[in-house]
Amino acid sequence: MTEQRTAIVTGAARGIGAATAQRLAADGYAVAVLDLDSAATGETVATIEKSGGRALGVGVDVTDPESVEAAVVRVATELGDPLVLVNNAGITRDNLLFKMTEDDWDSVIAVHLRGAFLMSRAAQRYMTEARWGRIVNISSTSALGNRGQANYSAAKAGIQGFTKTLAIELGRFGVTVNAVAPGFIVTDMTAAVAARLGVSFEDMQAAEAKIIPVGRVGEPADIAHTVSFLVSEGASFVSGQVIYVAGGPRT
Ligand code: NDP
Repeated sequence: MTEQRTAIVTGAARGIGAATAQRLAADGYAVAVLDLDSAATGETVATIEKSGGRALGVGVDVTDPESVEAAVVRVATELGDPLVLVNNAGITRDNLLFKMTEDDWDSVIAVHLRGAFLMSRAAQRYMTEARWGRIVNISSTSALGNRGQANYSAAKAGIQGFTKTLAIELGRFGVTVNAVAPGFIVTDMTAAVAARLGVSFEDMQAAEAKIIPVGRVGEPADIAHTVSFLVSEGASFVSGQVIYVAGGPRT
């Protein structure tokens, strides 16, 4: 890269987002570390800076258009025009349908779908102007259906349709749009699932590893690696795709 490009990663205070931000910084990007609470971005920013990279922590609520607009403009002003966007921020509010509240439904749809829409709309203008850009949306194997996750699986399947449509609309501007659909990844999100089910996180990982074809659970770095490929220069002919990163098909 001759001139340093800027990447935005949402939900980058921890988990998959933090690993992705660190990986993109190692790849040579200046990285905007976005999360709900700006103070929570400090650790990711410090890790990147310690390794010699450039990073900026910015607080944002991806469901709020004004917050999104302010965050994206701040990134452009303080770090550089964002030409890479990773829509990773996410929440779960799992419940069987008969117990699922309107708030469980609305909040999950808002963070994943409305959030990806608002962030992409705000960032695309820098990409189309530069005639180069990369958007990667984080979907999930739950898009294929998962008990107790009607809201989340609907949102993650919606992300896939959103991805394909943006790929069609933005391709002519040199912007590729893809989705990564992780399987079981060891993060606070999956730890919270174990806690809710009353099983130890270690036992849950061992049980998952048994049914995953490659025989292990996923790590945030597995997703970061795939994102790194999708945003790379050589991936300019890969667009509108969903890559399942789950250690193999479901058995
Ligand atoms: P984590 O819960 O560890 O991290 C998610 C981050 O998103 C948190 O820092 C959270 O902030 C932030 N966030 C939540 N709501 C908002 C918002 N409105 N605006 C800005 N940031 C927000 O999750 P993971 O790292 O596990 O997951 C990352 C992505 O990967 C998610 O989209 C998830 O659905 C997806 N995924 C994860 C899988 C897994 O096995 N872990 C599997 C498949 C997909 P706060 O802490 O303040 O809430």
